[in-house]
Amino acid sequence: MISLKKIFSVVKKKSKNKAKDNTKQSDPIVIPRSQHSISRKQIDPHALKILYRLKDAGFDAYLVGGCVRDLLLGHEPKDFDVTTNASPEEVHKLFKKSRLIGRRFKLVHVGFGRNVIEVATFRAPPEEDQHVDGRIMRDNVFGTLEQDAWRRDFTINALYYDIRDFSIIDYTGGIADLEAGLIRLIGDVETRYREDPVRMLRALRFVGKLGLRLDDETERFIPQLAHMLADMPAARLFDESLKLYLTGNAAVTHELLCHYGIFEVLFPQTGALLHTEQDSFPRTLITKALENTDIRIDEGKPVTPAFLFAALMWEPVKQRWQEHKDRKIPPIPALQRAATEVISEQVRRVAVPKRFTLMTRDIWTLQIRLEQRFGKKAYRTLTHPKFRAGYDFLLLRVQAGEPLSELADWWTMFQEAEEPQQQKMVSSLSATQAGAPRKRRRRRRKKPAAKSVASE
Ligand code: ATP
Ligand code: MG
Repeated sequence: MISLKKIFSVVKKKSKNKAKDNTKQSDPIVIPRSQHSISRKQIDPHALKILYRLKDAGFDAYLVGGCVRDLLLGHEPKDFDVTTNASPEEVHKLFKKSRLIGRRFKLVHVGFGRNVIEVATFRAPPEEDQHVDGRIMRDNVFGTLEQDAWRRDFTINALYYDIRDFSIIDYTGGIADLEAGLIRLIGDVETRYREDPVRMLRALRFVGKLGLRLDDETERFIPQLAHMLADMPAARLFDESLKLYLTGNAAVTHELLCHYGIFEVLFPQTGALLHTEQDSFPRTLITKALENTDIRIDEGKPVTPAFLFAALMWEPVKQRWQEHKDRKIPPIPALQRAATEVISEQVRRVAVPKRFTLMTRDIWTLQIRLEQRFGKKAYRTLTHPKFRAGYDFLLLRVQAGEPLSELADWWTMFQEAEEPQQQKMVSSLSATQAGAPRKRRRRRRKKPAAKSVASE
């Protein structure tokens, strides 16, 4: 990690008071290039080019948000965001390869494909009439740099890197908070959460990702206001859930979500079970799934949201599945019915797109198919397009303590075995092991009694 000491020794005295009162002040702390660690070598060359082009055209231009924060903390930024006093149309004119995005508040995407840099015009705080029940409905007024800083979420996300002299500009006490390892909402905490409850998710995501602590006030309101997330658009909560669970810090972030009562708002059906069965099976399966996911991401392996959601919803599905089987519905239709019920309730809160839920269902159904190994079934299951995910899910269930290790070992061997060996493996299974259906004895139909003429 790059040492922050140098910056902080200089600004400590100045910024301490600022961080404490957390109210608007007009002159920012400016940290000159000689006193901070961000070098141009660490900045995406494409983002640098954009900053220079804006500057040369006479505009102010800054890097802002996560990239400045991450560079100061010694992390590699996920993306580089630029902010400027140029209007979106002016930005669009300056860059041939750019697109205007958004209907109300326009942004410009410069570049294409993986190399897109978002350029936003300074934004002013929302006006009173833009609030509905405390929530911001429109956030579309251009403003000054200072206004732009105060409408951001956390102080550590409101630091600006100035391309003119490579200094860092801090209006809200973000530098002091970085030093103290604090995530602090800017302004009145309750108001800011009410304006946009997703900020609660962001707060916990940054704790999980950066290992910083929540400031007391920023923390205190989360359990009280967590319920507000239920009214957020489900599509946005899906996007946020991917950031929470598929960016490499899922296990610790999940613990935080549970701790602050947010998980049960996002996943009410699973959440209800976690409450009744603390520290037992459902928690273990989810935790294992998330630990595995984090490892895969760390190793640069692909992960699919379908697998994640299969794990997050497995317990309520299992419960409903059992209920349907108790009502004498055969296993596969019973599972399909359970899956439909649980998924349709879940997507009202977190809008998981169908392309993922279809695969989630396949993963679950494969749990039955993996048990049925008689005749040609095992060969057919092996060629199922989602076999690998289904098999991985079986391994996960074993890791979480379900008594399925024999079945899992069998499949591990079966995949690697040559054809004759595979045949032996199938034929040496007993009927019950192979999951074969019990043979039904045909009952002789009684001959219908000859109709009596009298009854006609
Ligand atoms: P990440 O590393 O996940 O990209 P980030 O802080 O850059 O973290 P983004 O979603 O890319 O997160 O947002 C960029 C910046 O926009 C944030 O740093 C913050 O200043 C501002 N921002 C994002 N979401 C909000 C919000 N809900 N309310 C206020 N400001 C926000
Ligand atoms: Mg970002």
